[in-house]
Amino acid sequence: MKLPQLKDFDLKDKRVLVRADLDVPLGEVKSQKPKVKSYVIADDTRLRNCLPTIKHLLGKNCRVVLLGHLGRPEGKLVPELSLKPVAGRLGKMMGRKVGMIREIGEIREDKGEKGKNGGKGEREKIVMLENLRFWPGEEANDLEFAKKLSSLGDFYVNECFSASHRKHASFVSIPKFLPHAVGFYLIKEVEVLSEVLENPKRPVVIVIGGAKEDKLKLIPKFFKIADFILIGGWLLKRLPKARQLADAKKIFACLTKDGKDITVESAKYLAEIIKLGGTVIWNGPMGVYEDERDIKGTKIIAKAIVNSKAFKIAGGGDTEAVIDILGLKEKFDWISSGGGAMLQFLAEGTLPGLEALA
Ligand code: ADP
Ligand code: MG
Repeated sequence: MKLPQLKDFDLKDKRVLVRADLDVPLGEVKSQKPKVKSYVIADDTRLRNCLPTIKHLLGKNCRVVLLGHLGRPEGKLVPELSLKPVAGRLGKMMGRKVGMIREIGEIREDKGEKGKNGGKGEREKIVMLENLRFWPGEEANDLEFAKKLSSLGDFYVNECFSASHRKHASFVSIPKFLPHAVGFYLIKEVEVLSEVLENPKRPVVIVIGGAKEDKLKLIPKFFKIADFILIGGWLLKRLPKARQLADAKKIFACLTKDGKDITVESAKYLAEIIKLGGTVIWNGPMGVYEDERDIKGTKIIAKAIVNSKAFKIAGGGDTEAVIDILGLKEKFDWISSGGGAMLQFLAEGTLPGLEALA
């Protein structure tokens, strides 16, 4: 897949919109007032992934306008999903202030360098627009909304692989209005996953678990690349649906009686297949790993993957969380920043947010 690269553009002194990966996992803080939810940033890996692109642009004396979403506010202003704490954390990581922009109009007056009154535009080379999903136009892919966003910059960079499977305004419509390129981290994701698609070490084993039912419809599309597709997790409860996708390559685990994990025997059986893998791709825990009584199946699978000689890839918010709990992060060759985006890229060979840039 050929994508326009950042390094091929002369961006000196430009205003650059970066569609960044700001959707960090949040940990809920127990509050005195039960109705008020309060969160802390549980992991800042996604922000770290965006740093090389942001630093590159600052090095070209660009004004960087960060766009992104957090959680699912569904077109409404949800105060606890404000990006303000994310701007704070990113600022700390960069050692410089990241200004917050609450309204799209707000940024127009402070175009930067020569602004009046010493407004925040002059001091802050990096600003972050509030959660894009506070505006209904983002998820509805409203063209007018995209146009308004486009007016904030001269150039657009997609540095958010993990949501590039969404046909949202900030991915598929802004590039209609601005010259564009992909960020350094996104291109790395695409390179690793393209290599798996085009030139994998065989056999290719895809392990799918977790709870998101929309994964089921991707399974038939894996037949092209996968030699084995191993299925566990809550998806097994949707088995009648999954079984309609019958194919000899598919192997199902068995759920325990209470349905919260896969049985140890079936986990061991899947582990035997994983051992043979040349490439293993994993998305989705095998059970309710959040409860330590139901992490057994996932642990057997995760250990089998890291102990295999395969090229090992994992992706997905919960998958990453369970890998962390088991302390196995370093043992993977690649951890994708997005579960859904990773699976869709492997199924389709592309994503809407990448097509928009081609
Ligand atoms: P990822 O975030 O890695 O893409 P998902 O979001 O699809 O994964 O699925 C993770 C969720 O699936 C976890 O919250 C886990 O508790 C749940 N889950 C896995 N197996 C089961 C099961 N057998 N019953 C209920 N929930 C399950
Ligand atoms: Mg999840």
